[in-house]
Formats: sequence, C-alpha cells, structure tokens
Amino acid sequence: MQRDLHRLANESFDLCILGGGINGLATALDATRRDLKVALVEMGDFGGETSAGSLKILHGGLRYLQHLDFSRMTESVRERNALMRMAPHLVDPLGFLVPTTPGLMTGKLAMRAALTVNDVVSWKRNRGISDPKLHLPAGRIISAEELKKRAPGLPMQGVTGAALFYDAHMRNSDRFTLAFALSAAAGGATLANRVRGVEFVLSGSKIEALKVRDEESGNEFEIRAEQFAAMTGPWRDLLPELFPGKQPKREVVKNAGVQLVTQRGVCADTGLAVPGGELDSEAHLQRGGRHYFSTPWQGSILWGTQDKEYRGGAGGVANSGSRYSGIYSRNQPGTARFRSET
Ligand SMILES: Cc1cc2nc3c(=O)[nH]c(=O)nc-3n(C[C@H](O)[C@H](O)[C@H](O)COP(=O)(O)OP(=O)(O)OC[C@H]3O[C@@H](n4cnc5c(N)ncnc54)[C@H](O)[C@@H]3O)c2cc1C
Repeated sequence: MQRDLHRLANESFDLCILGGGINGLATALDATRRDLKVALVEMGDFGGETSAGSLKILHGGLRYLQHLDFSRMTESVRERNALMRMAPHLVDPLGFLVPTTPGLMTGKLAMRAALTVNDVVSWKRNRGISDPKLHLPAGRIISAEELKKRAPGLPMQGVTGAALFYDAHMRNSDRFTLAFALSAAAGGATLANRVRGVEFVLSGSKIEALKVRDEESGNEFEIRAEQFAAMTGPWRDLLPELFPGKQPKREVVKNAGVQLVTQRGVCADTGLAVPGGELDSEAHLQRGGRHYFSTPWQGSILWGTQDKEYRGGAGGVANSGSRYSGIYSRNQPGTARFRSET
C-alpha cells in the first residue's frame, strides 16, 4: 500500500472518507466492493486511536437481550458472522463465564432462559463458516464444580455455577483493522495516513472538495469527490470547524473507556463476565450493574470496559495518556454504523 498523494490530489473520487479507524476503513472496503472509487485520509496511524483500545470482542449482542432489543441482537449476530467469514485467520470463538447466584435474575433458571433465547436468535451464527473450529457452540449452564475447574482463582462464595456462552474474539484487533485497510487498497481505494482533513471546500451548499494537509511535508492540497463521509470517531464534534465561516458548536457526548491489564490468573483461556459497573438504565431486565469482561490478551488478561461519560475534546483523552476513548455511536443520530457486509 502506497501513500499516493499525487493521485489523491489529481483524480476525482466517488467517495472521500475522513478518518481511518475501523469504521472509516470498513466503509472504504465496502464502498470499493460496490465499485466506487474511494479516497481515505487518516491524520495519524490507521486504527491508531479508539480502534486500538478495543477489548477485542466481536460481540453478537447478547447484552441487548436485557434491552429486549431483538433486532439489534440479530444485526450483531449477522455482522459477527460476516466478519468471521471475512477474516477467519484473525478470529477465534471464546467462551465467557457468567457466574450464577441464588437471585431470581442472576440464578441458573434466568440464565438458562437467556441462553436459550440467545441461541434461538443466533441460530444462523455459524452459517457459511467452513472451518468447524470456528463454530460458536450453543450456550449452556455449568455446575459450581466445573466452574472451579475452568476458573480456579474465582471466589466461589454464593456462586452456584455459571452460564457459559460463546462470542468471537479477535486475536489482534490492530491486524484486524489493518486487514480492512489492505483489502480496501487491494480493491482500488487510495488511502493515506498522516494526512489531516483541514477544511471542506464548498460550492454553494455542496461540498466540492476536502482541503488536506500532508503531516509529513506540511503541503496542502484538495481532494475532489462526489460524496464525503466523516468517520472521525470521537473527533466528530470538530466537524463544524472544517466548514468555512463560523459554524454553530455541536457537543458530542463521549465515553472515556478504561481497561486493566492483569496477569493470567482467575481464568486463563476463558473470558469472564462479572457485574460491577453502573446500572444500565436502558435495560428492561436488570441483573445488577453492567458487566465487566475479561479476555485473554498476549499472555495477560484484559479487563474492561469501565465507561465514563466524558465531555472534553477527543484529543484531550488521547493526550491525557489514555488511548481508550470512544463514543456511544448508537445515541448519536447520523453516526454511520459499522456495517461490514450486506
Ligand atoms: C476501551 C474500549 C474498548 C472497546 N472494546 C470493544 C470491543 O471489544 N468490541 C467492539 O466491537 N468495540 C469495542 N469498542 C468500541 C470500538 O473500539 C469503537 O466503536 C471503534 O473503534 C470506533 O472506531 P472509529 O473508526 O469510529 O473511531 P476511531 O478508531 O477513533 O477512528 C477515527 C479516526 O479519525 C481520525 N481523524 C479524526 N479527525 C481527522 C481529520 N480531521 N483528518 C483525518 N483523520 C481524522 C482519527 O485520527 C482516528 O484515527 C471499545 C472502545 C473502547 C474505548
């Protein structure tokens, strides 16, 4: 993949994408597969911001069961399946244990019902995946004895067993993100990192071009396209600044997410989901606080994600030493959803 700035400056594109995180890169790949001529610029490193902070779960939407949002569950299962088919070399099934306790909503009965509904909703979860090792098994309830074997370090006081469900896990989310960049480039898209979008060039009310600056040389040039897509993640509140003249400020509510890295311990190769976060106010079925998940990561364990509402600038999060910043796109009208395939 080459930084072909000459091509960006001298050709005209169907679509110009601003931002090379997973959403921008997936859009670039999707658009090239629809035979569109695509340009994409990223001011830093491809996937170097929010997308680098992922807990690495390609989740199939089990949590939306608490919201009784079956269409979102179905969509998540479909997207997970598409990604597993597109990148089978980068994805593995990962079992997650949710300890059960004697409570009504946290007990085995409720969890068995939840797993059954999840299995019904996701009955097409393995469709088209040829390698049986990648098939996601149905969920099941396990005994306290089996839980002890699978998670030897887990405190067992008040624990009656666990629900075991399966989701998909990216071994390396950075490679995953980069695979989208490489595939889009191989499909004909022109991508360049270290190129910052600085201003839209308007003709009347239509955006005609995007003025960009090469962060390497400082040179500025324009990219001409029919359509522009801003996939700038937590930078989307800076969008008005890209328009000439004074624009009304638009505040985007963001989330700053934090993850812990610990030694392998409680359970080495299985994920764990334990309640502990804030109550999920959107949930119709309350099971205590939001769950923290653990995933195996490079010989250690990643725990996350603690989300806190964050009202500062996106750069502020990045510069404060935490790479983990993000926004809840589902609450933001107009945010492009990550669709890998239709
Ligand atoms: C801690 C944490 C854990 C997470 N775990 C998971 C998980 O396990 N599974 C999951 O599916 N999701 C997870 N997420 C959510 C997921 O990471 C995000 O939804 C996703 O990375 C957002 O990607 P994006 O492309 O929209 O944003 P980003 O990755 O931030 O990309 C936006 C890009 O736009 C660029 N940009 C901005 N302005 C300009 C400009 N003017 N010119 C050029 N480029 C510009 C930025 O440099 C940036 O690279 C997690 C999020 C966090 C914070």
